[in-house]
Formats: sequence, structure tokens, C-alpha cells
Amino acid sequence: MIRQFELVEKVCEYDPDADEAAINRAYVFATKAHGNQKRASGDPYYSHPIEVAGIAAGLKLDSATIVTALLHDTLEDTLTTRDVLNENFGSEVATLVEGVTKLSKIEYTSEQSKHAENFRKLLLAMSNDIRVLLVKLADRLHNMRTLHFIANGERRRRIAQETMDIYAPLAGRIGMQEFRDELQDLAFQELNPEAWESITRMRDLLHQRTGASIERIAAEIARKLRENGIDASVSGREKRTYSIWMKMQRKAVSFERLSDIFGFRVIVPGIEDCYRALGVIHQTWPSTHEKFKDFISTPKRNGYQSIHTAVLGPDKQRVEIQIRTAKMHQVAEYGVAAHWRYKEGGPDLTVIGRDTYQWLRELVEMLEQGETPEDWVEYTKLDLFFDQVFCFTPAGDLIALPHGATPVDFAYAVHTDIGDRCVGCRINGRTMPLHNELKNGDQVEILCSQAQSPSPTWADFAVTAKARAAVRRFIRHRERDEYMTLGRQIAEKAFRNEQYAFSEKALEQALARLQITSLAELYEQVGRGKISGVALIQAAFPGTKLKGPQVPAAHWGGLDEHGRRQNGIPIRGMTAGLAVHYGECCHPLPGDRIVGIQKPGAGVTIHTIDCEILEQFGDMPERWLDVSWDASGNSPDFFVGRIAATLANEPGSLSVLTALIAKNLGNISNLKITGRAPDFFDMLIDIEVRDVKHLTNVIAALRGSPHVTKVERTRG
Ligand code: MN
Repeated sequence: MIRQFELVEKVCEYDPDADEAAINRAYVFATKAHGNQKRASGDPYYSHPIEVAGIAAGLKLDSATIVTALLHDTLEDTLTTRDVLNENFGSEVATLVEGVTKLSKIEYTSEQSKHAENFRKLLLAMSNDIRVLLVKLADRLHNMRTLHFIANGERRRRIAQETMDIYAPLAGRIGMQEFRDELQDLAFQELNPEAWESITRMRDLLHQRTGASIERIAAEIARKLRENGIDASVSGREKRTYSIWMKMQRKAVSFERLSDIFGFRVIVPGIEDCYRALGVIHQTWPSTHEKFKDFISTPKRNGYQSIHTAVLGPDKQRVEIQIRTAKMHQVAEYGVAAHWRYKEGGPDLTVIGRDTYQWLRELVEMLEQGETPEDWVEYTKLDLFFDQVFCFTPAGDLIALPHGATPVDFAYAVHTDIGDRCVGCRINGRTMPLHNELKNGDQVEILCSQAQSPSPTWADFAVTAKARAAVRRFIRHRERDEYMTLGRQIAEKAFRNEQYAFSEKALEQALARLQITSLAELYEQVGRGKISGVALIQAAFPGTKLKGPQVPAAHWGGLDEHGRRQNGIPIRGMTAGLAVHYGECCHPLPGDRIVGIQKPGAGVTIHTIDCEILEQFGDMPERWLDVSWDASGNSPDFFVGRIAATLANEPGSLSVLTALIAKNLGNISNLKITGRAPDFFDMLIDIEVRDVKHLTNVIAALRGSPHVTKVERTRG
């Protein structure tokens, strides 16, 4: 375990301005907070954050990050609160520690491997400061180094799998090859111990055969370069077990045939030297041709730059050689963390290629202009995936959605059926409205009902093309179905009025005269009000002298026991807002006597028979439609009734009123104060009720209250 003064010295070596006092305080704080908690290894728990801080210091990170590393487990594993961290270490550190804690709470299981890429993005998006991610990676590296101490094999494998699928690629993505390689190797050892074992054994054998050839080859390369006036440092190393294994997999070859398990790195002062060194190496040893790659002129997306080549080297053994500058080397090993080392000297801009991630580029640009440390803290914010949110299904599947997405988008992203049947949602266990904007890491449970269908209002707030298209498609189909149903009923009614027996045969004969190709289309046109019932009869029975009533209102019959008017067209299962609309002028409720007014192309509006607006249609009998409430139970569950109330202007009267409405199972959908006097105020209240009787009950209850002076149903 790295000791307190060693850690401080290590940090001060690369950052003379480091906040020594804060590091010392955090060291002591972590030791005390974790007290006598123990690691699986039997070591005191505090040894872990201290080692993580040591790894972070190896990356030459700033003091706040070192302090964060020391404190990274205090929020989750000790009684320490954010407030305490805030008081002792300031809000920057408290926020960073909280960020690391949040990342630790994201659970990943191997069944989710198909979502691994999204998981990586989620982690990036959630670590909205790159330093959070760097501490998390250092934490994971130390946990992997000590993984073998964990007794539970299943747990070990889960951690190793997560490392392999998520953390190692993540380290690679932000350019930290050294981290990635070590993480992969440690995970591989756990996940495939047999393969690890056998490769290690073969490598030991090869060592015995070839002796000190790494050093010899390295010395030989360095000598050749020096002879040609190139000042290079050459180091050799063996490939890591996992990368040998991957190569065996990829090329389907045995270990014996993998001769190039040695890699050499040539580090030279400048870019020119890279190409000169390449020339010397290719002139001296035969190239194997297949390996050449120039990542200097075309850097990798994560900023990696290097020339790769392979030759038959001094020992006639295939060796791989990477050529790069010292700065490129720093970036290759430590990725984004490396940029901080050039804080004083200014960054090596040649390192950053056109395709590098935007944030990395911005980071470097800022470093270039680099005025104050505050600036670069600001620029370490990861807005890489700012335009996306990542949410979980209850089963733990990860769904990536665009920024601003709602539960409706989520539902359609999971499956069209789920979207179509969605009635509500729970986010992180709490019931939330469907238009609520989702946040990173939200767990979303969609509540479905077979009876439910998409609501036209969803199209207003859904942001994904899939959800919007599905809603629109559904509405279009549904609308067409409803117009067809309505049209057929209008047709039947027209036949009855003229005392013909309804027959589709007769209608088929009318098709040609109406220039319509199918019955379905005919019904739809009739439903939409583009063809009237009368026109239909005249087309089906040319020359008929019309007997039926022109204005159905003249024939209002009695109601049957369900409140349904005999012979009226039942408004059966019609979705409000599509083929059928309810008049805002009169708020008709089941039980009211109603009439329909057809609006050509836009369906039918239902009015109560005493609605004033009907006068406007007195001389348009063709637009009147005889309708009735449907007693089959297929109507919408609730209708909006409107009441006008006058209330005593005294404390509590409004709450008495709302309580009475709720007690009578009415749901207030809108409430508007229309007048105010010193003693009274008037209001309009829209209440969702089942029918007239329900509304009458609510009104009766209100009339019984001393706070309510006057209440009545109103039409306006
Ligand atoms: Mn930890």
C-alpha cells in the first residue's frame, strides 16, 4: 500500500501546485471512514481507495481527482454524506465522488451483452466529467488486480465479464491502451483460465528457447537507427496473453505458428524521424508487408497515432514494430489523461486528428488557449452523448433514445405492440405521466392494457420517428375504420327511413353511379359526410320519391330503459376526436338527448338537442344525423360535464368543493374562476363523469354544502 507521504510526493512531482493539504486530509478521512472494514484479501478496506489514488497519480491527474479517488467509496460504503464531503473538501470533490458512486450503481449482467455498446455510452453520458470516469477506471483496475481474493466464483466471473464487455473497451475508447490491455488480461485470466494457463506455459517455453532475444533485438534496432543519425529509444515487450489469444482466434492458428509475439516500440523526437526510422528499418530487414499501417497521417478516432510495421528481424523471427513520437506515446498509453501532462508546454496538436471525438478536440483546443485551470475543468465535461439518453427496461435491457424522449418513445422502441397498448408508466418505481422527459439511467416500466390504443395527443410529444409514425398510422387506420362503421350505420338508417330492406347488393349497384370502386370506400365517404344518406338512396334506387324525414330532429322518439333513443345510430366504441366529436358548446353526456351534425370530411359532432348551435343548421337537413348513446358499454369511460358554481369566498370553501367532487368519483379536468366578489366567487368546473346521472349526483352533493351558494350544469 502506498504510504501517505509517498502519494503526496508522487503527485507533487508532476504538479508542484498540488493541494497537499487536501490530499493529506482525504487520506486520513478515508482511513477513518472505512475504519476496520476489510477487503476480501483481508487487507483493511482503506487500502483500496489509497491504491486507486496511487493509480490516478500514475495518470498524473489533478489534486481534486486524487482526493476523489481517496474518497470514492465513502458515500456508498460508509456513513459519510454528500454534505460532509462538501464541508470538508468542497463541492467540486463532492460532485465528483457522487458521480463515481452513481456509476457504481449501474448493474450489468452478461445477458445484457447485446447492449454492451449502449452500456458504455451510458457510463460515458453519466460521467459528465471525464475525471469521474478516470477514477472509475482506476477503481476497476485495482479491483481486477485483487479479483482472485474474492471467494465467490460467480461474482468473480460477473465482475470479469463486465470488465471485458464494458470497462476495457471504454478505456480503449478514450485512448487508454495500457489500462485496456491490463483490464482485458486480468478479465481473460478469470473468464478462460485454461486458455490463459496454456498460453502462459507456451510463452515460458519460448522464453527458454530464445533466451534474452528481446533485449538483443531491441539493441540491434537501436544501433541501426543510431548509425543513420536517428536518436531513438527502443523497447521490446511480449504481447499480452489476451492479445495473443485474440490473434490465435482471429487467424485460427496455433501458438507455435504465432512467431510475432514480440513487439518493439521505437520512440523518436519528431514526426519526420518516424518516417526516417521506418525507412531505415525496411532497408535493413525484409518487410512482411501484411502489417503496415500509418496511423500518423490517419489517426484512430481516439487520437491514437503510430506507424505499425512487421519485419523479419535480426533473429530471423517475425517482429512487430511501432514507431511514434514521445507525445504520441503518452497519448497511446494514457489517452485523454495524457493531455494534462502537456498543460504547461501546450498540447501536441498533431496528435489530434480530424476524426477524433469532438470533446477530445475541444479539450485540446481549450488547452491550447489554456488560460486557467478552471477552464480545463469546464472542458472536461463529457457532452459526447449529450444528444442521447439511456434507459433501462425492468429486465435490465438498455434502450438508447434521443434527448427529450418520453415514455411513449421508450414503449415504441421496445416494441410496437407495447407502444400501441401503453396506458401509463412507472419511472424508477413511481407513476409518471407519459409526456415526462426521460433521464439517463431511468428505469422505465410501461403499463399496458389490451383495450388501449394510441392517443392522438402522443404525436405532440413523442420525439422518435418510430413512435410518431406508429401513432399517426394507428390514428389513420382507426379513423378510417370509424368512418366506415359510421357510414354503414348511416346507410342502414337511410334505407329504413325510405322503408327499403338494407341490402349491400343494392349499394353495389350504386357504386358505379357514385364513381366509387368498393363498398368499403362508399361507407367511408358516407361516414365522412361526403355522400349523404339521401344521395345514397337516390343512387341505389334511381327515381325514388323520398318519403323519409328530412330533419330527424322532428322525430325525436322516446328513450328506452338504457337512455338510448330507439332507432338512433349508436355512437359505438367511437374514439372522441376521430370520427366523433363532442360539442364544446354543450358538453353532451350519456343520458342526454343528442343529435349529430355532420361536418363534411371531418365526421360528426354530437350536441344536446337543446344546444343553441343547432339553430345554425336549421336549413341544412342533410347534415343532421339521428344518433343515440350506445348501451353496449363500448363508449368511452368518461365524458366531460361542465358545471357553474358560486362559492362563498372564505377559507376552505374550495377544498370542500373539490373534496365533495372527489368523494362522488368525479375527476376535475379543468377549473376556471370566472368572477370574484368580496363575498363570493364564480367558477366553471369541467368534471369527468360517466353520464348525466353521475353528474346529477355530483351537483346534488354540492348543493348540500353550506359553502356552495349555487350550482348548476351549464352549456357554455
Ligand atoms: Mn472502489
